[in-house]
Amino acid sequence: MAAAKRDYYKVLGVDRSASEGDIKKAFRGLARELHPDVNAHDPEAEEKFKDAAEAYEVLSDRQRRETYDRFGHEGLQSAGVGFGSFQDIFDAIFGGADPFGGFGRGSGAGADVAAVVEMDLEDALEDQQREISFEVVSVCEHCRGNGAEPGTPIETCDRCGGTGQLREVSRSIFGQVVRAMPCDKCGGEGRIPQTPCERCGGAGRVTEMRTWEVDIPAGIEDGQRVRIAGAGHAGAMGGRQGDLYVEVRIDPDERFTRQGTELIARAEVPVTTAIVGGEVFVPTLEGEVAIEVPAGTQHGDMGVLSGRGLPPLHGGRRGDQHVVFELVVPTDLDPEEREAAERLAEALGQGQPSPRR
Ligand SMILES: [Zn+2]
Ligand SMILES: [Zn+2]
Repeated sequence: MAAAKRDYYKVLGVDRSASEGDIKKAFRGLARELHPDVNAHDPEAEEKFKDAAEAYEVLSDRQRRETYDRFGHEGLQSAGVGFGSFQDIFDAIFGGADPFGGFGRGSGAGADVAAVVEMDLEDALEDQQREISFEVVSVCEHCRGNGAEPGTPIETCDRCGGTGQLREVSRSIFGQVVRAMPCDKCGGEGRIPQTPCERCGGAGRVTEMRTWEVDIPAGIEDGQRVRIAGAGHAGAMGGRQGDLYVEVRIDPDERFTRQGTELIARAEVPVTTAIVGGEVFVPTLEGEVAIEVPAGTQHGDMGVLSGRGLPPLHGGRRGDQHVVFELVVPTDLDPEEREAAERLAEALGQGQPSPRR
């Protein structure tokens, strides 16, 4: 992720007052211009395309656009956007056809790997390091990826002439698109070993288990993904490695409702405490703490435990925990208690509740 994000309107080249139609039109134009199949020689095209897709993802959504207009990138990050769902955009714009024929790369690049990490809500308070293991295709060390048993000859593929690619012309919303497909005879290698490597059977790649320490930033939310560039499957013909996407799943904690950095919890308050004031204990992510109940607290009133929420994803002050007071009326009073309650009712005026101010 880039440290300093560009203004989404500038990325798409539209005015801040642009209509939904203008935004869609601008993105389609950029998509056509930056499409890697059209623009294979510009290594920055993919990044630019991703930036444009991210800008479009936000600005095409009325609610997110509003948030962005008011709070900028920071507002979106604390609202739990931030990690792209580019595939959704591709699906929306391109009708399900993935314009990269992979995920954002030319042919020969390795596929991405998806993994899941499960955490408790408390774990989102601090940066976490989790070790994950996953199966990955990597370059065969025995033949160093060329697929031939060491010391044996390799022939050039006659189907693709050694390029490893077959070209296919198709029509799409971009007009005529020349798409390079991996050669089916040599599997995109361009060369065919006469004596296949005994370790990988000539594929040049082997499947193995890989273990990776994944850094999960504090403030992460359920469903967000951490991308580790280059930790995915090996590519063909020296193509770049795919990426590892680690999805974070946070076990729901029934004590809290989370809204970004804010937490909401309930606290039962005896009705007498609500009348005269006092304190009750509420769960926080760091154990139970006391919260003051002001005299005259009504059912549904809220208190705040400052700084007991979660940190924002990119650092900064922790959010707050909001506490909803739920008044509890005692039942099964013994005669003495009942008498005291009756005296109170009388003192407050014939058992009628005092008018609210
Ligand atoms: Zn091998
Ligand atoms: Zn071939």
